[in-house]
Amino acid sequence: MSSKSFHPPKRTLMGPGPSDVNPRVLEAMSRPTIGHLDPVFVGLMDDMKGLLQYAFQTKNELTMPVSAPGSAGMETCFANLVEPGDKVIVCRNGVFGMRMTENVERCGGEAILVDDEWGQPVDPAKLEEALKANPDACIVAFVHAETSTGAQSDAKTLVEIAHKYDCLTIVDAVTSLGGTPLMVDEWGIDSIYSGTQKCLSCTPGLSPISFNEAALEKIKNRKTKVQSWFLDLNLVMGYWGGGAKRAYHHTAPINSLYGLHESLVILEEEGIENSWARHAHHHAALRDGFEAMGLKFIVDAESRLPQLNSVTIPEGVDEAAVRGRLLNEYDLEIGAGLGALAGKVWRVGLMGYAANQRNVLFCLQSLDAILTDMGASINSGAAVKAAQAYYAK
Ligand SMILES: *Cc1c(COP(=O)(O)O)cnc(C)c1O
Repeated sequence: MSSKSFHPPKRTLMGPGPSDVNPRVLEAMSRPTIGHLDPVFVGLMDDMKGLLQYAFQTKNELTMPVSAPGSAGMETCFANLVEPGDKVIVCRNGVFGMRMTENVERCGGEAILVDDEWGQPVDPAKLEEALKANPDACIVAFVHAETSTGAQSDAKTLVEIAHKYDCLTIVDAVTSLGGTPLMVDEWGIDSIYSGTQKCLSCTPGLSPISFNEAALEKIKNRKTKVQSWFLDLNLVMGYWGGGAKRAYHHTAPINSLYGLHESLVILEEEGIENSWARHAHHHAALRDGFEAMGLKFIVDAESRLPQLNSVTIPEGVDEAAVRGRLLNEYDLEIGAGLGALAGKVWRVGLMGYAANQRNVLFCLQSLDAILTDMGASINSGAAVKAAQAYYAK
């Protein structure tokens, strides 16, 4: 045996997630493990619920973290709300909308697709048309912040339309939570899921969810059992919702939950509105830098996500080689294009703890240096100056 302890390099994470983890979160995770039914741990769970309600801007009683990554939060919503034979309208404008379709079908539902081009937000008029054409639909599902493209959809309007046609809503807020305005109660969202490793700047592996009364009602009136034992909220709530009488369902990922708790305390300390404003502020500096360099955004300004910047690649540049050099020479990770955008864009994340001035300038400077060295046709040396000019305003 010659294996040694693993020591990862220190990277700056500016891709589509995971994002830079706040050191306070890592420190919290190294605290002593206690039992998942220990009264002290139960106190943390109660506190966590309040913090998640704040993050989601909701009073929903059923607000908790699923013990698995964002994809499991997605699956929790579909597995519990979709029964065999249910017609579900899925708005699809990127990778994650495609995954929703897959979820509907695996739950025995019928997915009706509302397609928009990658890089575009979901078109509310198309959703309304689909609802008119399918009066028997009972659920509308869409992604608030499409991480595969950097487009944000108008969740408030989409939920309003869904309700006009008596549909419940399933909303993917994996990348929006903490990064851009999201008001679960005010907008009337029925069920929502998120992730910890994007704008919450916690480690990957947990998925905050929240369900309102209308969604719970649908679950209570199911004719069939939820096909997944692990994700069945009727069972999970015996542990998370059990008050003093919590029953064993699965062993909670104790130390990961310490980390999520800390990241939510940090969000509360900053104030959620301030967190949204900080993402917008640093996005504007990064945007000025990219545009001065000559890169273009693929998403229109009105629906552009501050926390996920999809920009074009200069003519003739080997985009994977650039990402490789950023990683090897600068310990900086940025994202590649996914699906229809593979090879066409870079996706630069400014999520949570990573959304700061140092990262913006570091990213622009590193990318400028590499592209200049490769002889790419960019305005060398302009990016950092433009971002600094924004910060000096
Ligand atoms: C990252 C992401 C997911 C999946 O989250 P995982 O934690 O990777 O499972 C789902 N939806 C969106 C919009 C995402 O960005």
